[in-house]
Amino acid sequence: MHELSIAMSIVDIAEQEVKKNNAAEVIEIELEIGKLSGIEPYALDFAWDQAILKTVLEHAKRKTRYIEAMAKCQDCGNEFEIDNFYDECPSCQSYMKELLSGKELRVKSLTVI
Ligand SMILES: [Zn+2]
Repeated sequence: MHELSIAMSIVDIAEQEVKKNNAAEVIEIELEIGKLSGIEPYALDFAWDQAILKTVLEHAKRKTRYIEAMAKCQDCGNEFEIDNFYDECPSCQSYMKELLSGKELRVKSLTVI
């Protein structure tokens, strides 16, 4: 499962951070996930519970922020929200666009003790 390997790589990041700070564990972790990152929230929740067992994240409170996907039309310059990459521009129906946000997948912050 895609989400499980993502959850496990976040555990790796957290373990490195704990080691670097000579800390014991993570008490809070904040993630940012774009709506077009290909991550299913439900699958991530499920994978997360398995991935964090017996790790520094086991007792961490997880905050996840899902970021709207935004695109800029390359024909008319309109900026609009999209649900998938093939959506057309609502003002000129062009398919030519630049993705401004929505593919994020990052650990925004970690609090260790
Ligand atoms: Zn347009």
